[in-house]
Formats: sequence, C-alpha cells, structure tokens
Amino acid sequence: MNYQKKMEEIIQQNSGEVKSILLHSCCAPCSSHVIDTLTKYFDITILYYNPNIEPYEEYLKRKNEQIRFIKEYQHKEINFLDCDYDNESFRNKVKGLEHEKEGGARCPVCYRIRLEYTAIKAKEMGYDYFGTTLTVSPYKHSKTINEIGESLEKKYKIKFLYSDFKKKDGYKKSIEMSREYNLYRQDYCGCLIGKNNE
Ligand code: SF4
Repeated sequence: MNYQKKMEEIIQQNSGEVKSILLHSCCAPCSSHVIDTLTKYFDITILYYNPNIEPYEEYLKRKNEQIRFIKEYQHKEINFLDCDYDNESFRNKVKGLEHEKEGGARCPVCYRIRLEYTAIKAKEMGYDYFGTTLTVSPYKHSKTINEIGESLEKKYKIKFLYSDFKKKDGYKKSIEMSREYNLYRQDYCGCLIGKNNE
C-alpha cells in the first residue's frame, strides 16, 4: 500500500474544500514539513499528546519548541491543543516490553496510545479528520502507523488521514525547515527505555 498516494487521493476527493484536522505531533521538526504539506487543504490543530517523552524536562522542551514553531510559521494560522503529561499511563501500558529496542514490540503500543487519544478527541470535538506527523520519520514504521489509524477510524467512526510523509523527500524537507527555523532536534525518539536500550 502506498500511503502517500492514498493521502493524495483523499485530498483530491475533497475537491478543494478545506477540511479540519486534529493532527497529533511528536515534535516541531517532524511537524514542520507535515504542516507545510497540509496547510493548503486543511485547517490544522496540533494535538500535543506525547506521554512517552521522558524525562519531563525533555517533554517540556519539545512542547515549547512545537509552540514556538507554529507561532513563527507565517503561511497560515495553526491552532494548538495541549494535553496533560500522562507518563504513568504510558509506562503502565508498555509494562513487560521494557527489554525491546526502538522499533520493536513496544513502539506499536506507543503509536496506538497517541493515535487513539487523537481519534477520541477529534471525534468529540467534531473534526473532519485525525492524523499524525509520525510517518515523516524514517525510524517509524509507516505501515504499522497507518494500520493502527485504520483500526481507530473504524472504532471511533472518524476519518483518518493516511500518510507517508517521508516520501517525496519529506524527511529531507523537515530537516531543511528545522534549519530554517533553528528548531531543536532531539537525538533520541522519546522514552528513556528506548534511549537506554540503544
Ligand atoms: S522508542 Fe519511541 S516509539 Fe518506541 S516506545 Fe519509545 S518513544 Fe515510543
């Protein structure tokens, strides 16, 4: 399945009508290219729900950088929806998977935690779509992320924006935009378990 193509088809089906999307973002660098790609077609609200990011100081640093980026982004107004730091619930849900390296069995659980919260909120708040910036990263498994999105789309009856933002040089573009906006680029994914298992 080419998820980049699938996203283009969804946009085409909307025939120029701007739709609303609640977009989960993991960090400012990943969001940069994604926001730039979607602004023409969507009214975007960034949902910052990342209970996996540890320690708390790192979480705050990434969140503040996200806020700064959307303030400085000139092309369109981007909304921001903040969430509680729910690290205890993340740790409970990945119990027993602490031995896994980044990319192993803990990560799909982590994707689902964040996507499920986004789907629930998007449904509650009346958005047309929910989606995530996660697929811009070459370190994340796009097929898994899109399959989780698909299952949540069915479960909560809210449309998922399929994507593979790393395609068409998406990851490279996110690095260029990060340089342009002087964004903080972290050197590990998010949880300390993953960092310590490297
Ligand atoms: S390595 Fe990254 S994706 Fe995997 S569980 Fe940790 S924070 Fe989540």
